[in-house]
Amino acid sequence: MTDLARHKVLLDESEMPTQWYNLVADLPSPPPAVLHPGTGRPAGPEDFLPLFPMSLIEQEVSTERYIEIPGEVLDVYRQWRPSPMYRAHRWERALGTPARIYYKYEGVSPAGSHKPNTAVAQAYYNAKAGVRRLTTETGAGQWGTSLAFAAALFGLECEVWQVGASYDQKPYRRMMIETFGATVHRSPSNLTESGRRLRATDPEHPGSLGIAISEAVEVAAADPHTRYALGSVLNHVLLHQTIIGQEALAQMAKFGDTPDVIVGCTGGGSNFAGLAFPFLREKLAGRIDPTIRAVEPTSCPSLTQGVYAYDFGDEAGLTPLMKMHTLGHGFIPDPIHAGGLRYHGMSPLISHVYEQSMIEALALGQTECFRAGVQFARTEGIVPAPESAHAIAAAAREAEAARATGQETVILIALSGHGHFDLSAYDDYLSGRMVDEVTSDERFAASLVDLPTVAG
Ligand SMILES: *Cc1c(COP(=O)(O)O)cnc(C)c1O
Repeated sequence: MTDLARHKVLLDESEMPTQWYNLVADLPSPPPAVLHPGTGRPAGPEDFLPLFPMSLIEQEVSTERYIEIPGEVLDVYRQWRPSPMYRAHRWERALGTPARIYYKYEGVSPAGSHKPNTAVAQAYYNAKAGVRRLTTETGAGQWGTSLAFAAALFGLECEVWQVGASYDQKPYRRMMIETFGATVHRSPSNLTESGRRLRATDPEHPGSLGIAISEAVEVAAADPHTRYALGSVLNHVLLHQTIIGQEALAQMAKFGDTPDVIVGCTGGGSNFAGLAFPFLREKLAGRIDPTIRAVEPTSCPSLTQGVYAYDFGDEAGLTPLMKMHTLGHGFIPDPIHAGGLRYHGMSPLISHVYEQSMIEALALGQTECFRAGVQFARTEGIVPAPESAHAIAAAAREAEAARATGQETVILIALSGHGHFDLSAYDDYLSGRMVDEVTSDERFAASLVDLPTVAG
């Protein structure tokens, strides 16, 4: 039964899922192997040991359908989980659409986004393995904030390399990371070989996520007490986020509705996968048939403009080679406001299901996203993160199509976080200073020249 008047569904703590869901177990074919950067052969678990504890490597390569969430991690999750799901009644009215729009909101976490779902798990497994320090990269700072929070809970030191341009322009996330007790370095820094090489060419280098990853990986690999943590892209990160979609399935059932369209923004793909993969499980089992759509920015469109090829996860080529949709590891996107969507590659698992036509992709310019984000804020009262605004704009397009056809389309949005630290971007939009950057085909082509060559 559909409870059309209902505004929200809050699950009880006792209804929180106690397992993560691993999509790999249900795929008709497994994603391609990760390759060792030196030999070009499939990488074994031991190749990752300088970077990750064995427990996380096992999750990375696991084919088990469900993985138990440790009690200590569930205890932390309970601070803000289960997260709420809302029906966007007022936004629907403003859009004049017969569509029913729902959003699963991850902005209620301590960092204001979905990222603590994996940060807490990663800090827990590292602490349990006796690791003393974690290194990582951050763009606008959401991931650095999440890992700093999680590291503080489990008694780990945390060092964060922040993309230079964000470090210079967005001081508040840095301050929040430092408040949680972590150390922040402007990337490229002179603490690493990779950083010094780039600073030699430009002391004010604006940096990129790929560069910051190289620095954090280099430091972790050189110290036996230090490991590295990545906030997106990898299988174990997507796995930890699937608590979102499992909760959402239960919440949609309580609304008595079934989504026809699921939209989520994709940087490395973790919040999108977190919501979508449990629904994809249901789709593969033939129980529902939603369209599942990843939304990316036109200035960093790895799914819609990238190639499906083996590439490095970082700028310097220190990471294993992953087969993924990529714009090339040297690609530096224009400085758009959605910092979390500026990664050159896409999660190998999402790339794989995209290749298999299980999901679709759409690229949107930022002004359209902010226009939708502002309308959403004025009706629903939540200022969405610029990243999440991409999903909202895609939902607005669906709602518009529903208005044209009169169809009662059911739309589910991954609302990955709030935009309270991104108000200067809203200010740019509201004062008419925001532009849609246009990246030329030549620029996309130029960064693909440096793709590594691998057999097969
Ligand atoms: C980091 C971030 C993203 C992008 O990362 P994914 O791994 O693609 O989810 C999206 N939304 C918010 C709010 C973020 O902080």
